Amino acid sequence: MTFDLLVRGATVYPGDGAAFVGDVAVRAGRIEAVAPTAAGAPALAGAAAEEIAGAGLLLCPGFIDMHAHSALRSFDDPLQAAKIGQGFTTELIHPDGLAPAPVAAGGWRERQAYLRGLEGAGPAEWGWTTLDGYLEALAATRPATSLVPSIGHNVVRDTVMGGANRAPTREELAAMQREVRLGLEAGARTLSFGMLYLPGAYALTDELVALAEEAALFGAPLVPHVRNEGGGVLEAVAEFVEVARRSGAPLNVSHLKCLTDERLLEPLLALLDAAAADVSVSFDQYPYGAGSTVLSALLPAWAQEGGVAGTLDRITRRSERDRIRADVEHGIEGWENILGGLGPDRIVIANAAAPNEAAAGRSLAELADDRGVHHVEAVLDLLLESRLDVTMIEHYASEAAVRQVAVHRLQLVGSDGIYGAKPHPRLYGTAARFLGRFALREGLLPVEEAVARLTARAADRLGLGDRGRIAPGKRADLVLLDPAAFIDTATYDEPARHPDGLVGVWVAGQRAWAGGAHTGARAGGVVREPLPR
Ligand SMILES: [Zn+2]
Repeated sequence: MTFDLLVRGATVYPGDGAAFVGDVAVRAGRIEAVAPTAAGAPALAGAAAEEIAGAGLLLCPGFIDMHAHSALRSFDDPLQAAKIGQGFTTELIHPDGLAPAPVAAGGWRERQAYLRGLEGAGPAEWGWTTLDGYLEALAATRPATSLVPSIGHNVVRDTVMGGANRAPTREELAAMQREVRLGLEAGARTLSFGMLYLPGAYALTDELVALAEEAALFGAPLVPHVRNEGGGVLEAVAEFVEVARRSGAPLNVSHLKCLTDERLLEPLLALLDAAAADVSVSFDQYPYGAGSTVLSALLPAWAQEGGVAGTLDRITRRSERDRIRADVEHGIEGWENILGGLGPDRIVIANAAAPNEAAAGRSLAELADDRGVHHVEAVLDLLLESRLDVTMIEHYASEAAVRQVAVHRLQLVGSDGIYGAKPHPRLYGTAARFLGRFALREGLLPVEEAVARLTARAADRLGLGDRGRIAPGKRADLVLLDPAAFIDTATYDEPARHPDGLVGVWVAGQRAWAGGAHTGARAGGVVREPLPR
């Protein structure tokens, strides 16, 4: 028998079981045979076009990124080296309720302006309005990773109701349910929410339940960035537990954390443990004590009404600027208030469009000093000058808190990586930090458990039956790594660094990573087969 690829004698982590030393053979993009080695003899007979000596190395299924801002990246950079270079072969896109589609006819320029900071701009002209049309364009870019779409609540609401700050009418709610259904039929595998972002933040719980009921028909998980990750995090996560319970949909909370008060971590994890008794629940985490998002997330919701144009217009006016500053200083009931909670020293610019490119890497306190203004004024000036195209890194948690979340049994891994001039190191380092640093080096959790969360358990969550395991018939998405060397090297000062110790990555049997560099292979694609209803 001849194979395309034969990895001999590696320690195989199959994704959902005990590791063993053995051989793995690949043919035509699929895993053809798997056999444990007995008494040192080769386990599989036969020749292969390429044979790799795996002794001393770990062979895992390709990793699955549960929170990826890669929706438009492939139009500019289909190689996705930041992701391939840490072993991610599949990415769940459109988190936080945000996506390039669906979008109302004529509404794409506004959407592009809003998404630019998080997702990049994509093509100069967007030719789509439906999720289906956009996924077709995305597939034509031939991405190196497999991209798994979500349908986003924010963009569904925006498509049906624009930026309206009110509850939907019965007709509007039915139209939103229809958009969610169309999205799921077009291949979306989760329903994502971004309650920090507009117009999602305007939705009340009943609206969320009505849309979640559509997801429940497909068994598609709800993937929420909850309303409040600061002082109100318990209520905000409880809201989605209630939505999951009432709708019957599974729940995977996005990037679980306590943004301003670590004392809430114990009760937060206890809340999820209790919910797991009668709700299918999990969460994802990027294994760092800092977050990253658009700088405009520091503004109260009222200041962002009317989208990009409304926000920019408002922050030109003195009275509105004073009101924003007062709200940041005094808070608003129920509002997360990241800047008020963390202060300007702990928030650093990750990327800023012209004329503020030099702001990347500097804290809001430093930038305010430079400009001789209050830090809220500095934020408003940056947003105005760079037309909201600014992202930040917020340092919020201790390493102990990060590890406490990482070891929890319901945890999965999502990079939340956002491209930019000085990106958060999670863009390059997430998988290696979790598996290499936390599991292999620190022994914080068993290696098999860490691999399961990066692979089989994530695949099960997304209904991806063809991957996440090393077994005959599965897609040959594989990661080969040196357990003594595999570790994240990206830092806040030098974020664009690939991890050490990654020997090889294969996507659908094609080698995408070799010798510390991308090979140029683009065998990923877009997963468009709908979940069975
Ligand atoms: Zn988010």
